[in-house]
This record gives sequence, C-alpha cells and structure tokens, in this order.
Amino acid sequence: MAEDIAIPQGPNKAAIAVSRHVDQDRLWRRLMEMATHGATDNGGVNRQALSNEDIAARALLRSWGAELGLQASVDAIGNLFLRLPGKREDAAPILSGSHLDSQPCGGKFDGSYGVLAALEGVEAMRSAGIEPVRSVEIVAWTNEEGSRFAPGMMGSTVFAGARDLDRVLAVRGKDGTSVGEALARMLEVESDLPRRKLGVRPAAFIEAHIEQGPVLEAEGRIVGVVKGIAGKRVFGVSVTGEKGHAGTVPQRRRKDAMIAAARMVAAIDDALAAKGEDVKFTVGRFEVEPNAPSVIPSEVRFSIDLRHPDANSLTKLGDWIGNLCEENRRNCEVTVDELSHDPPLDFPEPMRAFIGASSTTLGIPSMEIYSGSGHDARHLHYLCPTGMIFVPSRGGISHSEEEWTEPDHLADGARTLTVVLATLATR
Ligand SMILES: [Zn+2]
Repeated sequence: MAEDIAIPQGPNKAAIAVSRHVDQDRLWRRLMEMATHGATDNGGVNRQALSNEDIAARALLRSWGAELGLQASVDAIGNLFLRLPGKREDAAPILSGSHLDSQPCGGKFDGSYGVLAALEGVEAMRSAGIEPVRSVEIVAWTNEEGSRFAPGMMGSTVFAGARDLDRVLAVRGKDGTSVGEALARMLEVESDLPRRKLGVRPAAFIEAHIEQGPVLEAEGRIVGVVKGIAGKRVFGVSVTGEKGHAGTVPQRRRKDAMIAAARMVAAIDDALAAKGEDVKFTVGRFEVEPNAPSVIPSEVRFSIDLRHPDANSLTKLGDWIGNLCEENRRNCEVTVDELSHDPPLDFPEPMRAFIGASSTTLGIPSMEIYSGSGHDARHLHYLCPTGMIFVPSRGGISHSEEEWTEPDHLADGARTLTVVLATLATR
C-alpha cells in the first residue's frame, strides 16, 4: 500500500540548485535527434505507435538512459520506464513523462518534450550530485495519439486500470494488424528489458507538454500550470441505406446513406453551435461505401468528437446526439455507439499551487490554463496526485509539421519540472 505524498507549498533549496543544471542546448539537441526518427520532408514527424520509427525512438531514449546508469524496464502494454533509484527503494516513485508516438504529420515536440524534459530533470539531479529519497522514473507511455490504433492513451489507461489489457491488445489498425501483434514485435526487439508489473501506484505524476493552443503566447507567459482537462465523448455513427444506380433509381425511392449522414451532421452542428464557445464538436472521419461516383451510397460511417469543460453540459449534449441522428435518418437505419466518455477533471489544487510557486521561484512567468486536449495525465489523475506543465506553442499550432516552441521556453518548462521533481523526490 503506497502512502500518499504530502504536496509541498513550494520548492526546496536543494531542488532549486538542481534546476541550474538543466542544459538548454542538450535538451534541444536531444529533441532534434529524436525527431530524426520518422522525420518528414517538411520538418515534422511521422512516428506512429509501435512502428519501426517508434521502436527506434525508444532505443534512442534507452541509450541516453544507459549513459546515465538509469534502470530500464517495460510493462505488458509496452510503457517504457527509466529509473533513477532513490535511497528508499521501497517508497513509491515520482513519475514523469509523456509519449514518443506522433500523429501521421505531427511535429517535433508533442509528447517527446515531456519525456525528454523528464530525462533532463534526472540528468540535472545526477549532475548536481543529488541522491533522491524516492526513486524518480521517466516514462514513455504507449500509443497516446491513437492514430494507428484507436483510441489513444492505451499505455496510460491500461497502466491506470481504466481499460482492460486484453481488449486493447485485440484492437486492429487500418492495415489489419492488431495491437497485440505489433506490441509483441516491439517487445521481441526489446526482449533484453526486464518486465515490470502494470499499475504500480506512483507517489505522484507530473507531465510536461507543449500547450497545443494559443493562450500562453497571447498572454506572454512561459509556463502554463494546467488547471484541468476538458471532458470528451467519442461516438461512432453508422448509417445504412441501399446501393443503387445513380441514373435510374428515382430520388424519392432512394435510401441514400450519404444524404442521411449529411443531414445528421448539419443538424448536430446547428444544435451545438447554439450552445456557446465551450462546446467543441468535430466530425474528423467520414467513410462512404461503396465510395463510387455513380453508386448511391449504401453505408456511411462517421466519427463525432465532442468536448466540453463542464461535466453536466458534456453529458446533456452528448446524450442529444442519438436523438438528432434518429430524427434525421429519413428511411435509412442508424446506430450510434459511444466509444469513450472521459469526464472533465481538475488537477488537485495543492499540486497546481506547488507548480505555480516553483515557476515563480525561478522567475518564470506562469499562469493557470485549461487543457482542451487530452493527455496521459488524465488517467494518472485517478491513480495518484498529478499535475501538468505547459510551454507555449507558436501560433497555437500542433498536430502539424509546423509545430514550434522556442528553445528557451522549452528549457524554462524543464527547469520548472526539475524543481518540482527534485523537491518531491527529496522529501
Ligand atoms: Zn501529446
């Protein structure tokens, strides 16, 4: 039974000294080297989960960990850990990291930054000659993005017990490969790594990440202390009609799945647009069958991603979607499946105050900020005291090859993270 850690009000002196060992150039060099794995022609990264590029990125991370003498291990869903042992080996570790997988046309910083900032923090502790009381562990969570295998955050949800390992292993990607098959291949390459148990409760989890939005840049702040994460519901809608010849079937006798689906999307958009700025509604995937110009579509499947920072609103608006689809199906059939429902959450106030105080002590301007995007920290939140640190994204751009964060902002985020980790680990 892991004991709860008391969250301090501010950083301790030893930790502040450790943060002076954060090396901006080293962090930048590592980010750029990491970005060579899956590098795209336009300066971005295509490093999807469990791919060769992902495996190579993990090997690179391990090589940096080995140089520092960190103990590497992996769990059954492929989460990769690098451990700096503390004096009290039996005490729950302080955990920090993010993910190394990317979107198909992702940037250099999403995910990698959180992993490499944690590594920078551990290296700073080493350089400062600090031996932590609690062990500090760096983690790279498996498949956060969910673009090759959906839904994402597989590593953190399985780790936190929010999803069943066997169900996740059975998920198939577009090319027909299952998570189980792709994971087995990766673990075969990494068979020298010791296996660890799933879900051993950390004392705390801190995730650094790029903001992926425009707020910090607009406000002229460098560190965002993340207040919470917006809630999200994901639906899959299938509309079934009837195939037919585009030139011969009379319009009124058609069961056109495409027309029905288009009406549904328009009706949902109209309804939700009236509910204010906090509602975020996206139909990002649309599949038409047989997808031929002269054939009446017999089957249409589309996705709905609905987000809201308020739990009640999210529930109400999401529950409305089924009715709106039903009302607009005409003579087609429709089924609406809810694929996930993650309620909005607020990270614990003491953790936010501690991160804010740490940033202030270092003279780095910070502010509280809400996250519209999901992160692995969402699932750790239910397991242990959890917090997040954001750094600015130029133009708010992310999930894009254009993604950019200034090197000194990345370093300031890493300094804040380091102070937080070192304080928690030395108490
Ligand atoms: Zn990310």
